[in-house]
Amino acid sequence: MSSPFATHEVLNQSPPFEDVNLFTTDAGLVEAVSREGGGAAARRLTAFGQVCGSAAAFERGRLANENTPRLKPFDSKGNRLDVVEFHPAYHECMAISVGEGLHCSAWDHLAQPDAKPLPGANVARSAGCYMAIQMEAGHQCPITMTNASVPTLLLQPEIALEWLPKILSRDYDRSFKPAAAKRGATIGMGMTEKQGGTDVRANSTTATPVSGGGPGAEYIVTGHKWFMSAPMCDAFLVLAQAPGGLSCLLLPRFLPDGSVNALHFQRLKDKLGNRSNASSEVEFHAAHGWLIGEEGRGVPNIIEMVTGTRLDCAIGSAGLMRLTLANAIHHCRHRTVFQRKLIDQPLMQQVLADLALEVEAATALSFRLCRSFDRTADEHAAAWRRLMTPVTKYWVCKVGPAVAYEAMECLGGNGYIEEGLAARAYRELPLNAIWEGSGNVMALDLLRVLQREPETVAVVVEDLGAAVGGDAHLKAQLARIQGMLHEPRLLEQRGRTLAEALATLAAGTILKAHAPSYVADAFIGTRLGGTARQTYGQGLDRFDTRPIVERAFPA
Ligand SMILES: Cc1cc2nc3c(=O)[nH]c(=O)nc-3n(C[C@H](O)[C@H](O)[C@H](O)COP(=O)(O)OP(=O)(O)OC[C@H]3O[C@@H](n4cnc5c(N)ncnc54)[C@H](O)[C@@H]3O)c2cc1C
Repeated sequence: MSSPFATHEVLNQSPPFEDVNLFTTDAGLVEAVSREGGGAAARRLTAFGQVCGSAAAFERGRLANENTPRLKPFDSKGNRLDVVEFHPAYHECMAISVGEGLHCSAWDHLAQPDAKPLPGANVARSAGCYMAIQMEAGHQCPITMTNASVPTLLLQPEIALEWLPKILSRDYDRSFKPAAAKRGATIGMGMTEKQGGTDVRANSTTATPVSGGGPGAEYIVTGHKWFMSAPMCDAFLVLAQAPGGLSCLLLPRFLPDGSVNALHFQRLKDKLGNRSNASSEVEFHAAHGWLIGEEGRGVPNIIEMVTGTRLDCAIGSAGLMRLTLANAIHHCRHRTVFQRKLIDQPLMQQVLADLALEVEAATALSFRLCRSFDRTADEHAAAWRRLMTPVTKYWVCKVGPAVAYEAMECLGGNGYIEEGLAARAYRELPLNAIWEGSGNVMALDLLRVLQREPETVAVVVEDLGAAVGGDAHLKAQLARIQGMLHEPRLLEQRGRTLAEALATLAAGTILKAHAPSYVADAFIGTRLGGTARQTYGQGLDRFDTRPIVERAFPA
């Protein structure tokens, strides 16, 4: 006799997406890391890929986002506290990423006097970030900012000397006490004010010298910041108006005498995604800060930090895109509709393969950019870094939400449910486009290079010209770009067109040279082949989609 509860049997659902090695199953990543100079880290990355793709890691991600951080501005007696409490799962994610050195490993050479940067250090670190963000995205905010703060701190050597030993530590120390008494430290940034995030020159926060002022001197900082994330960082690089103009200062949470610096948090933002990470509104009530570099050099001094965070936005978006894709392929391998697995349905093959092309291109482009951070002494790499940082951040972060949405739809209704990975990744992805220079700002930065550094543009265009080879579509795209460059009158209106054209050309050349031809030809044929498309899953009928999907996430 059949059970009266037969309808409670769970049939035709995919098994959980977990215990997946996020490195070894990702051929596009493995090859990009090796190609761009990080191959020596492969063994370590294999072990880290297992950690980040484990069931325990994804569970930590869920817990850290369902149990969001809480601001405790005061204690029970009304004394100021200004601390944020996180769920233990958030701290576990931080301990894993800090233990792996994702907040600093590109700077390990600074521990030795006169040591040179380790070859491929940025590529290896970025590969770790690409996987850690798949485990849990929000905690990557302080990880990214800490790594990116180092070149700005180095502008003020005595301050760098004090903070670097704490930054280079692999010991995550969540305690709220002076950095000198901690095993490790993290650094955040405060630029955005209510009246302007892009236009930081409109900052109204003031910095008044305690005595004479000047590089490394102490200032009193008064004002507000409308967004200052990861408020439990140990210090923040902040922009404020000093007598000599907009300046960059380091504001620690504790003062040298052990008292708490006057950073008064007003509230935490209620965000669409990125919920495990706290983003504060903060008032500086005559807080103490120390000047980094000269007064009036705030923007150029903090821009190094911003450049580093832009790389991480692209790497992080590529990682999250790959997570949503692998999750979708996994589901379609197990789900049967109309007596046939979803993965074998021709329309679904088109969609999955199309997404896989976007993810592999985003990964290839992001890691090519990363290589240029490892080879700054090389003229071609330096030019690539300057021109292609805004281009890569623009394109990868813009396609991310679209990829995540389509991948979510592959899971049907389950994709839209909070318990799965897809919904959270989808809500996270627009953030990488918005912060650290949103779309138009990236297009404007690209135009700034065109106007001020024509020699940089010439180097990159020459490199791309050499890479297009005999491919007709790549050649046509290069000619289109050169045409736009020769019409400077319309460049501002065409900033986004040019950024996207450069990104797809660069990605196409990398895939043509290094990816299997079934990937490269399909990417170039659909993205640069001349047929307009607005949604995924089109134009691949001429191509062999099965190996593209298999490569993206092997069975
Ligand atoms: C979750 C979260 C966390 C954040 N954390 C931090 C943090 O830790 N520290 C920090 O300093 N900031 C932080 N920010 C702020 C973020 O960097 C800013 O929101 C961002 O720089 C945009 O600034 P804005 O919000 O003032 O928008 P605006 O500057 O007003 O820009 C609005 C829009 O206009 C566009 N735009 C701007 N100028 C032009 C132009 N000339 N032509 C055409 N379009 C233009 C922009 O691209 C954008 O789309 C955070 C933001 C979020 C959402």
